[in-house]
Amino acid sequence: MIRTLLVASLIVEAALVIGAPAARAQTVYPIDRADILSGSRFDFKVEFPGMVTPRDVRVTVNGADHATAFGKAAEFVEREDGKDQSALILRDVSLSKPGSYKIEVTDGTRTRQLAWNVYGTSPRKAKNVILFIGDGLSPSHRAAARLLSKGIGEGKSFGKLAIDDMPHMALVATAGTDSIITDSANAASAFATGHKGAVNAMGVYADRTADPFDDPKVETIASLAKRRNGMAIGIVTNTEIEDATPAAMISHTRRRAAYDEIVRQYLAATPDVLMGGGLANFLAKGTPGAKRGDDTDYVAKFREAGYRYVTTAGEMNAVGADPSASKLLGLFAPGNMDGVLDRKFLKGGTVKKNPEQPDLTEQVKVALNVLSKSENGFFLMVESGLIDKYAHVLDMERAVYDTIMLDNAVRQTKEWAVARGNDTLILVVPDHNHPNSLIGTINDDMGSIPNVPLRERVGVYEKAGFPNYPAPDADGYPDRIDVSRRIAIFSASLPDHYETFRPKLDNPNAPTVASDAPNTFKANEQYKDVPGAVLRFGNLPAMINASVHSGEDVILTATGPGSERVAGQIENTDVFRVMVDALGLGSVD
Ligand SMILES: [Zn+2]
Repeated sequence: MIRTLLVASLIVEAALVIGAPAARAQTVYPIDRADILSGSRFDFKVEFPGMVTPRDVRVTVNGADHATAFGKAAEFVEREDGKDQSALILRDVSLSKPGSYKIEVTDGTRTRQLAWNVYGTSPRKAKNVILFIGDGLSPSHRAAARLLSKGIGEGKSFGKLAIDDMPHMALVATAGTDSIITDSANAASAFATGHKGAVNAMGVYADRTADPFDDPKVETIASLAKRRNGMAIGIVTNTEIEDATPAAMISHTRRRAAYDEIVRQYLAATPDVLMGGGLANFLAKGTPGAKRGDDTDYVAKFREAGYRYVTTAGEMNAVGADPSASKLLGLFAPGNMDGVLDRKFLKGGTVKKNPEQPDLTEQVKVALNVLSKSENGFFLMVESGLIDKYAHVLDMERAVYDTIMLDNAVRQTKEWAVARGNDTLILVVPDHNHPNSLIGTINDDMGSIPNVPLRERVGVYEKAGFPNYPAPDADGYPDRIDVSRRIAIFSASLPDHYETFRPKLDNPNAPTVASDAPNTFKANEQYKDVPGAVLRFGNLPAMINASVHSGEDVILTATGPGSERVAGQIENTDVFRVMVDALGLGSVD
């Protein structure tokens, strides 16, 4: 008997540890323990593991039939996706009364219970909310940005980064519904909707059906701010505008790669300011440079919808200075824009092809000019998105320079907010971490023996000393990165690649190339003969061509009305809660 009890309790514990529901129970969306903003819209779905008969199915909300609780009955799907699996789905419902909700689902034999927490908000405190996202910004890049842009003497920084000089700070956990590691889709979606999601999914719970556009939706802050407060919406990035972080602010799909559909959803949502790269998916099939699979010219469609359309910094600044401009579409590159190290100093990447790309600070300035015309305030998301792309390809200098650029954008925005009398909540947060660490310096001048392998010139502890970058310019950038004592940031997740211990002065790093075996990658031989380069065997599967995200908490800093809620250790979904509370978006209709 004792033995039986022990086994039973072990099984219960195992279920708790892996966080999985009991075998073959119904799946319900929103998920168990979801926090739901009162009045926010969501789709309700029950997935039965097998076929069930409608008369055996009962779904209650706090003991009442779901049709009464939601105001309408769910649709019953007998064989979902043509398989022996039934489902109930009910689109576009909401719960206005804050409190605990118990959901009970039964098909006559199996019963599942779950709980939701519906929360309201306090009265509106902030006119505007600005969410800065440093995509994949790790603490190592933050520390290096401080070293390079502020300098350090006898161990003490000569200044603070604007992203650090904020009154409120929290650690933010980033796991999703399917994994301890997020990608930028479900990470940004958690900020935008307050619901956890799955890798590749934005604005939805990823369900079991094949269709990437039928998944149960949850409402985004952009939709809520517009619908409930009549606010203007801005989305600004330096990646493709269809990329996951910007797209998650408005879109609903479980497939982040669905760029054509994301552009269609942008037009339908009509954000007031939309700026970044990614022109190729706005161009009709057959147009030079187009990546769309259909014949629709989305630049023309946005123009018809009243947008001013710009493709260079000069055109953008002219619209920013025009008092009549209220809707702006800026697309400055066919794909991702270039980072600041290439644009201002090295002229690598696509800078020669697209020489008139604006800096993120200029984009933000123009966005603030246009959006602040809104009497009802605005929600603006600004992403420094290439930090992540550079971290993936182990290009640490470029990632650090784009961190400094993010910091400049935050500094000017803080000054803008102070000048207005502090009516704006400003948040700065990475969406997920990268496993990078600042471990010392790389010293060409270490020792007097010639031809010492570069690996032996990695200075750690007291041998690291301090890097010798030139003093930064007015924007915080040293004008040279190929100095003789430079920062050593290494990733803990590696594909096979050549480590050169040197910054890449021509183009961003390309550590891997496709190998002869299908869907696998090998070290890029381009760097093999760089003096001092060593082949580093990776620790990732060969199908992965770059460094990957990591699951540590990220650092959120905040200032302005509502920022006092930022403290301690929180979930990424709580970032949504801080923003909607500042905007009073949970008040009852
Ligand atoms: Zn990434």
